[in-house]
Amino acid sequence: MNTVETERFRTRLVDERQRVLEAIQYLHEENPGSIQDETQENPIDNHLGETASVTLDREIDYTLEENEGRVLAAIDAALKRIEDGTFGICRTCGRPIGDERLEALPYTTQCIDCKRKEERG
Ligand SMILES: [Zn+2]
Repeated sequence: MNTVETERFRTRLVDERQRVLEAIQYLHEENPGSIQDETQENPIDNHLGETASVTLDREIDYTLEENEGRVLAAIDAALKRIEDGTFGICRTCGRPIGDERLEALPYTTQCIDCKRKEERG
């Protein structure tokens, strides 16, 4: 991969990193309290249906945050690989990852063949 291409991916990764950080920030702002705080807010109106829905929303948000956290770690690792000069190389077989795959998922660590093999087990 030439320098221009690497720089292009670096810019994309930095942009993506910013987006993920903002998403994590947003999730924190949406849910500043704990589940317990929310269920105690309206002790009279509170009934099982509402509690269940609050818990479900919260679980979805936690999953999102977990995913965003993983993406953030993957982006950081990809930026490090750009520094190391190993960006775009499959960690399993050592061959270049296809351009199309990198365009779709710039922080991926595996070529499509290795990924498919791994998914098959
Ligand atoms: Zn591979």
